[in-house]
Amino acid sequence: MNDKPVPTEPDLIDCKLCFKEIPESVAITEEGEDYVMHFCGLECYSAWKEKNKNAAGND
Ligand SMILES: [Zn+2]
Repeated sequence: MNDKPVPTEPDLIDCKLCFKEIPESVAITEEGEDYVMHFCGLECYSAWKEKNKNAAGND
């Protein structure tokens, strides 16, 4: 047999905020009109949201 078993590696993406590499399957994804961003967890997601909420409503 020539074929090595190829483990299906998850696609790694960078957290938008801390740049940690994480599998896309566990990332939190934020989709905009023409962008997609990924976050390693709610912590980064919330922090990013905080920084970028100037565009959306002022609570
Ligand atoms: Zn992160």
